[in-house]
Amino acid sequence: MRSASMPPAAGTGLEPGFRGVICASFGTGDTAKLHSDGQPKHDFRFDAATPEALSQLRSALGCSKVGVRLLLAGPTPDIRAAAAVAAECGLQQEEMTLLSEEAAPRAIYCPHCHSTTTTLRVAGSEVRCKGCGTNLTTTDHFSRRMGAYLGYQAHVEEAS
Ligand SMILES: [Zn+2]
Repeated sequence: MRSASMPPAAGTGLEPGFRGVICASFGTGDTAKLHSDGQPKHDFRFDAATPEALSQLRSALGCSKVGVRLLLAGPTPDIRAAAAVAAECGLQQEEMTLLSEEAAPRAIYCPHCHSTTTTLRVAGSEVRCKGCGTNLTTTDHFSRRMGAYLGYQAHVEEAS
């Protein structure tokens, strides 16, 4: 169990209670091109998702408060491993952005305004529709008819 009296994790360089964007890149993955919407940003760079790297990430997430967002960039297996660690730390899917460097840009079809938005994000992450601004959750479902991956409105269950 984590408690308020727990000392900050050593070696992460993170303030206890850090709120902002934590960027973790693996291999040649590059989070520098990612914007953090003006929020405080803390970068981690790892060669790969080794147990050491993942435990460092776990420490960083463990000492940050609710409201932190996580950006992950790199090879898919590495960022998937990191995302699993983040989920263990209590981060929700919508608080993480996974950018796979192998991923080709994908066109996401918006069911609301019928426009397509190109994204590098992997299936399961969110992208804002460039047509109507709806937050779309991307899927692996490719529609030949649309020539795009189908998106669906994120948090639709919360909105109803
Ligand atoms: Zn739309």
